[in-house]
Amino acid sequence: MTFADLGLATELLRAVSEQGYSQPTPIQAKAIPAVLKGADILAAAQTGTGKTAGFTLPLLQRLNSKTPVNGRRPVRALVLTPTRELAAQIAESVTNYGKYLPLRSAVIFGGVSIRPQFSALRSGVDILVATPGRLLDHVGQRTLDLSKVEILVLDEADRMLDMGFIHDIRKILALLPKQRQNLLFSATFSSDIKRLANGFLTSPELIEVAQRNTAAETVAQVVHRVDKKRKRELLSYLIGSQNWRQVLVFTRTKHGANHLSGQLTKDGISAAAIHGNKSQGARTKALADFKKGAVRVLVATDIAARGLDIDQLPYVVNYELPNISEDYVHRIGRTGRAGRAGQAVSLVCVDELKLLKDIERLLTAKIPEQMIAGYEPNPHIVAEPIKNGRPNQAGAKGKNQHNRNRTSLSKGSKFAGAKVRTGRNGNAATAKTRRIAMSG
Ligand code: AMP
Repeated sequence: MTFADLGLATELLRAVSEQGYSQPTPIQAKAIPAVLKGADILAAAQTGTGKTAGFTLPLLQRLNSKTPVNGRRPVRALVLTPTRELAAQIAESVTNYGKYLPLRSAVIFGGVSIRPQFSALRSGVDILVATPGRLLDHVGQRTLDLSKVEILVLDEADRMLDMGFIHDIRKILALLPKQRQNLLFSATFSSDIKRLANGFLTSPELIEVAQRNTAAETVAQVVHRVDKKRKRELLSYLIGSQNWRQVLVFTRTKHGANHLSGQLTKDGISAAAIHGNKSQGARTKALADFKKGAVRVLVATDIAARGLDIDQLPYVVNYELPNISEDYVHRIGRTGRAGRAGQAVSLVCVDELKLLKDIERLLTAKIPEQMIAGYEPNPHIVAEPIKNGRPNQAGAKGKNQHNRNRTSLSKGSKFAGAKVRTGRNGNAATAKTRRIAMSG
């Protein structure tokens, strides 16, 4: 199957081939024809599956097929996404894929000055990519008219609900014309997502694809047991002695991310932190520096890292295990993408053994442990409740914790039975639910 088989226009085929894609991913093969024929879709897809091109390419084609409106250019396609980084990445994809079409796009998100966004909107855009809060700011200031939207995309809908955007989404839905095409993408399908979907999708085509588990299969996972106090030292040692060049490190808190990034810098390892309290400029710069290799370590919190598309990321380190087991899977999905080898290293202190157990229960496999000589944990240190982290699972981060009661899109989902190889020795494990099938 080629992109041409999917019925895409030559301008889009040219742009796709310039991106170096030779064939559509499974989600693209299903979503592109469905969107082209005008159907609503409800798609189970995570970052890494190629979903962005899956909705962007056909969306561009549909907009282009209609005669451009004379004079004013109202927004005809609206893409809503939870985070600024994702919005920026989607906008970049829209620009790349649409480079040979006479369509205009813009991206708006919070944390940056609103003024340039005013002028972008004033000059007219066909496709608008936005985070919900800033979008509503514009609506409030009457700098944005959504009454001509023909296509709505809700990307990472589950994450938007987790982040408490449900009211914003409902407000935005109320501003759109009733007649429109709706595309909803979500990695997971809680009852809240299903309720939301039922409320505005019309006879949607359900799209489920077996996850490209290449990431999972090529991620070697390992646990190093170590005392909490010695984690930073061990991390610097691993980075230095093994000459790791591009490392994404996860901490549980924003403060922890800042602190660690400062300490690594003091150790002579260039590092930057990325989290929700950083200004947009600082986040963009940190990511750009990391991508181009100017910064060796990017220390991130889960929310900030969600959806980051960094090619060929070789190392992911869980400096602290996440409170929510599923976040472990999202985190390690940042490495070993598109079939490349990756390594996920977890530094685990005695306080985190319960979290580790929960993760292993989710993976239905034990992650191999490897002791690093000189960093063996002191057996006399006893577990303490985790500071700054709410109790595991129940009441953990996110306003809508019950959204974590995830169910699959339909029974017999192909996601069930996803293989995850755990560790260098490759104990293949069969996951019970698709939650652990990760982005690839
Ligand atoms: P996404 O799931 O949309 O975030 O895409 C994940 C990554 O896959 C991005 O780096 C895309 O550039 C890349 N990608 C998307 N479509 C294809 C394709 N057909 N072939 C190879 N890579 C792709």
